[in-house]
Amino acid sequence: MTAAHPAGDADRAARSAVAEAARRRTFAVISHPDAGKSTLTEALALHARVIGQAGAVHGKAGRRGTVSDWMDMEKARGISITSAALQFEYRDAVINLLDTPGHADFSEDTYRVLTAVDAAVMLVDAAKGLETQTMKLFAVCKHRGIPIVTVINKWDRPGKNALELMDEISERTSLTPTPLTWPVGIAGDFRGVLDRSDGSYRRFTRTAGGATIAPEEALSPEAAVAREGDAWQQAVEEVDLLAATGADHEQSLFLDGVTTPVLFASAVSNFGVGALLDTLVDLAPAPTGRPDAEGSVRDLGEPFSAFVFKVQSGMDAAHRDRLAYIRICTGVFERGMVVTHGRTKRPFTTKYAQHVFGRERESVDLAYPGDVVGLVNASALGVGDSLYADRPVDYPPLTTFAPEHFAVVRSRETAKHKQFRKGIEQLDSEGVVQVLRSDRRGDGAPVLAVVGPMQFEVATHRMEHEFNAPVALDRLPYSLAMRTDEASLPLIASSGGVEVVQRADGELLALFSDKWALRMLQQRHSGITLEPLVAAQ
Ligand code: GDP
Repeated sequence: MTAAHPAGDADRAARSAVAEAARRRTFAVISHPDAGKSTLTEALALHARVIGQAGAVHGKAGRRGTVSDWMDMEKARGISITSAALQFEYRDAVINLLDTPGHADFSEDTYRVLTAVDAAVMLVDAAKGLETQTMKLFAVCKHRGIPIVTVINKWDRPGKNALELMDEISERTSLTPTPLTWPVGIAGDFRGVLDRSDGSYRRFTRTAGGATIAPEEALSPEAAVAREGDAWQQAVEEVDLLAATGADHEQSLFLDGVTTPVLFASAVSNFGVGALLDTLVDLAPAPTGRPDAEGSVRDLGEPFSAFVFKVQSGMDAAHRDRLAYIRICTGVFERGMVVTHGRTKRPFTTKYAQHVFGRERESVDLAYPGDVVGLVNASALGVGDSLYADRPVDYPPLTTFAPEHFAVVRSRETAKHKQFRKGIEQLDSEGVVQVLRSDRRGDGAPVLAVVGPMQFEVATHRMEHEFNAPVALDRLPYSLAMRTDEASLPLIASSGGVEVVQRADGELLALFSDKWALRMLQQRHSGITLEPLVAAQ
């Protein structure tokens, strides 16, 4: 279909891809569980008027829109394992908010979502500051050079001091915080914010339960003094201090990942949410051409291309549904177009293309760079695969993240050896778990490695129910994997407590119980190659 386009159509498609890409903002929220990500997501959607009223969905128990229910396990626990994208228009922009499924027990999928975004919002609980999962997700953003907007949430509740929070951000992330707004009133006494762009006061007004868009009253500095007295004066002094220390926004430093603009908000009251949307539209980058595996960039106006950043199976037990989520990199996606699957060079028909967010699914007819599309029945597609029309492109493989949990997996029924192998191979190719081989343990008992233990549960569940090969897992006492090489093997082998395994891509990994065990080996033999993997230690 695409190849048959006359030249004029191709020009038109190129122009619309470039124009549509320019108005897209594709981002994810990175935060620790309970910082308010779901609340913020709903508030963002409310501002863009996708949903009429937030509130019914606040709090875990009553949540509807953002929770998907594809697995019994997920239902039983009331958590969301899946991730997809919410799309809405705001001003002239199209916002794609990719869901990073959040739970104390993160999985590799959570990290992979960050390979498909152009910016991230780091959501921080004002009382708790930077928590562990936030730091892990931050490390991935940093590695990818993704610009980060910081939102200090829950300012309506008692929390840390605003200047101390700025210190904490610069010390722990080494980003320089450049607040765009500054709170008037300490945490727990949220009166509003001083807008540093014009010195005006945006007064915080509450609505019942934060159910509707909180009207933000704009007041002049003079009116602010009259109204808030000392609280306003203190904000003005602190803002002067910020200016004196050079904490002013500069677009190029933000885009280079050197600084992070900061906003203060109360997501539950919908305060600061409009400012966040404006910040994303005004400051966050639009999609740009993505370098291919060789490093050359395919321009936005080139024919359609995309890569798979997530694959999801078994959502619908009746249909053995397999959904591949693609992020569009270039060109125009039209539902029904036949594209090429880069890895197999086979044609792939995009007849069933959907936007998926939580339980909501709707057909997508047209999509542009920056958009996420869920392809149904995508049994051949694996994580990291490229799809393209007309001119081949091979996007680089997705990063594999540093696993922190390890277990030997064995078939519980020896007769089911074939199903076992097939299932393990499938889970490996989908990126559900990393499968590591070890000479010591042989082919029948590979080591599964994961970022979050919940991935073990998903793997066990799917091995039994989808591949009809029940498995037993024996957890191994490691928590740290380092990259090593052939030359280091003899020295490693002579030390106790370390095991070397091989990943599917050939990489050799040395597994340690903890960082002390690693340090001991490094001290004993300085010549051994031991390099950290991406993310999250
Ligand atoms: P998630 O785990 O990050 O998705 O967090 P939730 O959105 O589920 O929020 C966790 C809890 O914090 C819920 O009880 C929310 O109502 C509450 N919460 C979220 N944002 C705010 C806020 O700005 N102020 C206050 N006081 N509570 C909030």
